[in-house]
Order: sequence, then C-alpha cells, then structure tokens
Amino acid sequence: MNEIFSGSFTQQEPIPEEAIEAAVAVLRHGRLHRYNTAPGELGETALLEQEFAAQMGAKYCLAVASGGYALATALRAVGVKPGDRVLTNAFTLAPVPGSIASVGAVPVYVGVTEQLVIDLDDLAAKLDQAKVLMLSHMRGHLCDMERLMALCDAAGVTVIEDCAHTMGASWNGVPSGRSGAVGCYSCQTYKHVNSGEGGLLITDDEEIAARAVMLSGSYMLFERHLAAPGAEVFERIKYQTPNISGRMDNLRAAILRPQLRVLDQQVARWNERYRAIEAGLRGTPGLTVIDRPEQEVYVGSSIQFLLLDWAAEKVTDVVRRCAARGVELKWFGAAEPVGFTSRYDSWRYAPSAPMPQSDRVLAGIVDMRVPLTFSLEDCALIARIIRAEVGAVFQGQAVAG
Ligand SMILES: *Cc1c(COP(=O)(O)O)cnc(C)c1O
Repeated sequence: MNEIFSGSFTQQEPIPEEAIEAAVAVLRHGRLHRYNTAPGELGETALLEQEFAAQMGAKYCLAVASGGYALATALRAVGVKPGDRVLTNAFTLAPVPGSIASVGAVPVYVGVTEQLVIDLDDLAAKLDQAKVLMLSHMRGHLCDMERLMALCDAAGVTVIEDCAHTMGASWNGVPSGRSGAVGCYSCQTYKHVNSGEGGLLITDDEEIAARAVMLSGSYMLFERHLAAPGAEVFERIKYQTPNISGRMDNLRAAILRPQLRVLDQQVARWNERYRAIEAGLRGTPGLTVIDRPEQEVYVGSSIQFLLLDWAAEKVTDVVRRCAARGVELKWFGAAEPVGFTSRYDSWRYAPSAPMPQSDRVLAGIVDMRVPLTFSLEDCALIARIIRAEVGAVFQGQAVAG
C-alpha cells in the first residue's frame, strides 16, 4: 500500500509562551503605536530594533510593516527615482520586482544558475545598466558574496539584499544582509520569525538609516529610536524626506523579540529537517539535488530540487502524484503563476528579454516548504514519497522514449 503524508505544509509552530505574554502586556496597557510611550518607557518596537541591530552586528535598524515595505523603503533611501533601472534576480518572488515597480523604477532581470543563485557572469554583463542591485537570496540560496560584492563595488552599484529567506544564514561567516548597503527581512508568518506581517531593515550608513526612519513615518519623533543615527543626521534630510507610513507596532514587536532570541536554535531545527529530506532524495534517477557550498550557512525552511530538461507534462505529473499522497510541491516553471510561484515573464509590467539558460533552470525547479511542525520521521516519509513518484514518472518517461 502506498504511504500517505497527512501533515500541513502551511502550519507553523505556535507563538512561544513568552511572546504571548509580552503581547498580552502590550494589549493590557494599550500603547500599541510605537511612539505612544509612557514617560521613561522604551517601546517594544524601539527595543526590537536595538536588539536586531546588535544580533546582526549592524549600526542601524528600522522595523516596518512588511518585508516588501522594507525593500521599497531601501530603494527610496538609497536614492532610486522613478524611471531608474534596478537590477534584480529573474528567479524571485513577486514582492521583489513589485517593490521596484512601487517606486516607479524598472526591473532589469539577471539570470539564475543551476545552483539557484544569481548568475554572476550575466550580472557582470549588465552592471552598466543600473546603479542599484536588489539581490534576492531566493529560497535561501547564497551566491559567492565576495565575488558579487567585488563586481558591484568596482562598478559603483549599490547592493540591497532581500533576506526574506536568509534571516539567520551567512556566507563565510558574514550574516546575510551585512554585505550590501542595506539588508531587508520579512517577519511574515511563512518566513523565519512570525508576527503575521512585519519587516526589518538594517544598514551601517547613517543617511540611508535616517531617510528610512523618516520614510517609514517617524514624523519628527525619530529621537525615540534606539537604533537610528543622531539628530544631526536627521537635520540634513528631514525636510527632503517624505513620510510614507509603514511603521511596525508594539504588539508585533513584542511577539518578535523572544523569537529572535531563539533564531539560531530554530535554524538548527530547520536544517535537521532539510538534511533528512535531502538525504532521502539524493540519488533519485532524474532528480538533481542542489549541493550547498561549504561557505554557506543556510536555513532549510524550504527545499528545492531540479527535474532538469523534463517535459512540462511529466513535471506536472510528479506534482499531481505527490499531491495525491499529501506532499505539496510547487513548480516554478509553470506557465501561469499559481499560488506564490512566479516567473519573471509573468510580471508583465516590467519588460524582460528572453533568457534561455535561465528558462531551462526555471522550468526544472520544484520547491517545497519545510515547516518546523514536521518531525524528522515526516521528513523521511515525504522524501520516500517524492522519490517513488519521481522514479515512477521518470521510468515511464524513459520507457516512452
Ligand atoms: C516574502 C518575501 C518578500 C516580502 O515579504 P512580505 O513581508 O511578505 O512583504 C520579499 N522577498 C521574498 C523573496 C519573499 O519571499
């Protein structure tokens, strides 16, 4: 009899008790707005920023309403103007080109390699087309960050890192989000900490930090921040920087602070699960596991594999057969965007030139979430199901020639 998996791919863990208590305390006193503080009180949002800056080794941190808002704020804060071109990954999710479009700028897509990272040769060839790169560490895969930064520094291109999938990850010991001018994180339910919605932005640049704070809707209350530059920096920018409200509130900040304290433990738990699935998939005929570079500390909150050069209907067949056994796979190559999957050519508000090498990779990417509610036994079972179904379709394919 065929084994079936009955767990949920979208069920995250409950919010830790300590975070629930902190949230209830905020609800009891009622001061949810970040600038609504009692005399001498340090608000949860300001404390969250101070703690996250310290955790990441950054000078400045700003908490905002969402990861997408953090990306758009970063673009504005580094000076992107309507009509500017911004380099970004062809393999990413809709909020990334969306943030570029939201400031009236135009995405220029850079290809993806079989390792699922930005194609640095393609990037090198396109660096003269823009002053900013919005680098998406899509699905947690980090490229050779030293080479990327050397290329961008030499070309005078400012790097903004989209770390929605790399909070807690690092490259050669450098935390993801600390190589570029700005690092942006999401605290949305499906990422690595969960406040429903929320975002964080870090930088060492005082003007970028001050502009981001003003942009987020600080009015002239920026002195209540604990991880922002001094008032003299705001003096230089406060009359030129519009207020585009997107603040975080104290309730969400209260929920996030205890979660960030245990991020490293959560990362270890994700990676046990990731490795259990990876081990179960390795050696499946027709299926390519993505080997992770030694320099990379990743967060296995999702896993990808390639069905490279498979016919589209065979890939759909695998997805359908796995779904029938309770395993939810997403195919990034689908012609129509489904759920959260997306392809650069489905963002039609931004023109794109065909990228045949990337198209070949994208057409083969299969993706699966790995929530922490899965046990290691669940992970082994899931891998057995995928292995069996990929095997069945692959054999059929081979027989059919
Ligand atoms: C989720 C996500 C974002 C945006 O985060 P939100 O908090 O949902 O706005 C940005 N980039 C990637 C790759 C994401 O997956």
